[in-house]
Amino acid sequence: MNLKQRYQKVLTNIIDTKKRFSRVNDNVQLLAVSKKHSAQSIRTIYELGQHAFGENYVQEALDKQQELKDCQIDWHFIGPIQSNKTKQIAEHFNWVHSISREKIALRLNEARVGKTSKLNVLIQVNINQESTKEGIPISKLESFCQFITKLPNLNLRGFMAIPEASTDFDTQKNNFAVLHQQFLKHKEQYQLDTLSIGMSNDYQAAISEGSTLIRIGTDIFGERN
Ligand SMILES: *Cc1c(COP(=O)(O)O)cnc(C)c1O
Repeated sequence: MNLKQRYQKVLTNIIDTKKRFSRVNDNVQLLAVSKKHSAQSIRTIYELGQHAFGENYVQEALDKQQELKDCQIDWHFIGPIQSNKTKQIAEHFNWVHSISREKIALRLNEARVGKTSKLNVLIQVNINQESTKEGIPISKLESFCQFITKLPNLNLRGFMAIPEASTDFDTQKNNFAVLHQQFLKHKEQYQLDTLSIGMSNDYQAAISEGSTLIRIGTDIFGERN
């Protein structure tokens, strides 16, 4: 399959999965994760109607944004955030999925002063308490929501997670269920609308557990080098 065919196949799978889990009328957006793939590949699926792209590395993303400045792309930053990169991230992205430290939130808020729109942010949660992964524990979620909500240039939209790797559907689903419950619990109070869960290997399980935004790289663009 070529890039266009893989992209179409993912779109079809999303529709089928929504049917299978009775979510036909729910909004499940696709974020195309383009890290390590070329601006030309992005343009190919942009022309098929894909407008939301996710990137993990600031310099790589800025180079591609430069090449694609004629496109109306919604750029999402989804990788770990170094504090010396917060200014560039706040200036060049519409969304940030990977906020898990107060210091980073403060710096992004500061760097967004004077912009016409707020920066949409998601709190990254470390569901399985893995030391190798970013994210706050569930126990700190409430206080972190309160902290972010007070920052005037950030718009808290919801939560993001990367659970421990598993190929078993039920294990995947149980992990996502933990965050889904938290999302439902906090949704109204903080006016959340985005649950960013699901990648190439587990997006069916994520859709079954309330995902509103799946982040797909490999299934669209192929293996990364
Ligand atoms: C790379 C990445 C993805 C995409 O992963 P695939 O398995 O290639 O679909 C999704 N989310 C995050 C945070 C990533 O870093």
